[in-house]
Amino acid sequence: MTASQPAGERDLAASATDPDTPDSDQWARLLRGSQGVAMHPGALNRLVSRTVELLHDAQRAEPLDVGAAAEAGALLVESHFTDSELLSRAIGLLSAGDGRAPSAELAGAFAAGWASALRERTLQEQEAIRLAADTARRDAERALRESEARFRALFESAAIGIGIGDVEGNILAANKALQQIFGARPEDMQGRRVNDLVHPEDTPGVWEAYEELVSGKREHFSFDKPYYRQDGEVVWTHLTCSLIRDDDGTPVYQVAMLEDITDRYRLQERLRHQATHDPLTGLPNRSAFFERLEAIFEDPEPGARFGLCYVDLDGFKVVNDSLGHEMGDQLLAAVALRLEAALRPLGHLVARLGGDEFVVLLEDCRGEAEAVAAAKTVLAALAKPVPIDGHRLAVGASVGVLERPVAATTPMAAVRAADLTLYRAKAEGRGRWTLFDPQRNARAVSRYAVSVRMPVALDRGEFFIDYQPLCLLADGSLAAVEALVRWRHPQLGVLGPDEFIGTAEETGLIMPLGRWVLEQACGQAADWVGEFGDRAPQVNVNLAVRQVRNAGLVSDIDRILRDTGLAPERLTLEITESAVVGPKDESLRALHSLVDMGVSLAVDDFGTGWSNLAYLRDLPVSGLKIAGSFVSDLKDSGREQVLGWRIVSGLVSLAHTLGLTVTAEGVENADHADRLRTMGCDRAQGWHFGRPMRPEQIAERIVKVGEE
Ligand code: C2E
Ligand code: MG
Ligand code: MG
Repeated sequence: MTASQPAGERDLAASATDPDTPDSDQWARLLRGSQGVAMHPGALNRLVSRTVELLHDAQRAEPLDVGAAAEAGALLVESHFTDSELLSRAIGLLSAGDGRAPSAELAGAFAAGWASALRERTLQEQEAIRLAADTARRDAERALRESEARFRALFESAAIGIGIGDVEGNILAANKALQQIFGARPEDMQGRRVNDLVHPEDTPGVWEAYEELVSGKREHFSFDKPYYRQDGEVVWTHLTCSLIRDDDGTPVYQVAMLEDITDRYRLQERLRHQATHDPLTGLPNRSAFFERLEAIFEDPEPGARFGLCYVDLDGFKVVNDSLGHEMGDQLLAAVALRLEAALRPLGHLVARLGGDEFVVLLEDCRGEAEAVAAAKTVLAALAKPVPIDGHRLAVGASVGVLERPVAATTPMAAVRAADLTLYRAKAEGRGRWTLFDPQRNARAVSRYAVSVRMPVALDRGEFFIDYQPLCLLADGSLAAVEALVRWRHPQLGVLGPDEFIGTAEETGLIMPLGRWVLEQACGQAADWVGEFGDRAPQVNVNLAVRQVRNAGLVSDIDRILRDTGLAPERLTLEITESAVVGPKDESLRALHSLVDMGVSLAVDDFGTGWSNLAYLRDLPVSGLKIAGSFVSDLKDSGREQVLGWRIVSGLVSLAHTLGLTVTAEGVENADHADRLRTMGCDRAQGWHFGRPMRPEQIAERIVKVGEE
């Protein structure tokens, strides 16, 4: 075949010239019928001509041109006729004809060319595939290396600690930052397990979250968590842990990222400690206590109980006032130390509420007995004197104990109840504990309401005065009236003096209140004098202990008498025995001045207090009022009654021996009045002679008597 002559044209011309080789038609049929090769008819014709031509060339040569025959076979493979079926049919075509040897030889050469071309082609294809595969693999490896390098760089240079572990909890890798956080060398981290990293202060829930993560129930979690460093120090971290799954979704790895937050944590802790602790004693302060208390009330177990011991030091004020604040502070710190040492081991919280008040909180209290035991522990802890600066300071305490089901109360109500119970403990005598009593507490609560309201009550005109007759037993005539104060409380209704005088004395409000009563009573008595002249009753006014001890008493009364125009002889001041502690008392001088002024004094509730009668000699009193209890207790008959009357009779003669006028209080019936008259008692006061009443009613009585 020459380069200048297209193969197809020559083939077509040659095909008809040689009858020994299969002609072009047979080849064309064979190739067209072959499976799987689609060829343009022109290209097919050209292929047929070329094949036929090569075969003719091979045959025509002498000996047979094996090369040309092989080329014809290769030509078919080149044109994608690689089907072995086609080969056998082609061999059939070539071996047919007259069966001469050259035909078999031709077919053999053709087949060899075909096979060799096919092998060559297969090899080429394999090589191409191998090359492609190789390139692909190299690309993939490079990409992987790159991404791995990127990951390594990130992992190693990260400022944040990163650890990788499997889901069994084995630590597989830890970066430099993590090693630094743990203060560990790479080999220290080897073979360690996540579960070894438990810390007693671990945030509750952190290990539950961890278990959920490694079992595939959650994808990540985040906590602030402490760890022990290699040197045993504690490091605080912000930990974020994530789960890595494989393509099937099975959990395979965990990745932990840790940020060292120790400094931040310590600062936070310090601020928190400062906010929740009392700087003087180091104990939890009021707000920390309330936080803990309130936590008990959040979502309590059914039947949960708690206890409170409200502690107040006895006599702390004396130490503070006499030895100075510095000593007082040292004492408080020492007390705090003792309380904490005694109660902390029992699992109770000790807090300082302020001043000399402490509180013990019992969470999950098992009952009253446990709370009482805590109170006894408090008292025992403070039983021995506290040595400070060479002084041995005896400091006792009073404790109000409250033990209740959580469901029965609220934090505020509980603290107030404990406080009121403490108040009772103090009132009953120091150095003791008292248990919460709901009934007494209810009364005390109203006392609480009273003290809160009282300062404004006077300005708002909520007080008023009733007057109770004091009558001469001889003829039943009205000799005097006693001024008895009442309070129309906007919420609690009318309160008797027993319900608020005590609080008024404690809070000091008795001073303005007592002055007001004096002004009112003297004014009223003066009005009656103006209206009824000599028939007007005298007036008795009660003085509280504090009033008697007050330096301004004499001048106050002097002013009031002058302002109201009441003659001093018409006023009697009732004082209790306890108002006069001893003959040298300051107040005794004041009482003398009052008597000098013309005012009378009477001892109220005689027989209930001071048993030493000597004071009666020095006291410038002119009357005695026998306490109502002596008389009203005489209702019962029998031995008791006989004895009771003897006492009253004895008191009457004692008073007369001292030259005093005697008034019996609490006379409720005519029988009593008769007996008192018989034994020589001068005057009587009680329901039989008239209840405390409005001033108008007193006036009506005077008018009525005058008309008789
Ligand atoms: P007190 O001075 O001994 O007054 C007599 C008390 O006995 C009054 O009680 C009176 O209502 C009550 N009473 C009178 N007759 C009878 C009776 O036949 N049977 C019974 N069971 N009780 C009778 P009240 O008004 O409750 O006063 C109680 C105390 O309050 C007074 O006792 C007095 O110590 C004090 N108080 C009253 N007003 C004042 C005041 O203005 N200043 C001061 N500091 N204390 C006052
Ligand atoms: Mg009185
Ligand atoms: Mg009395």
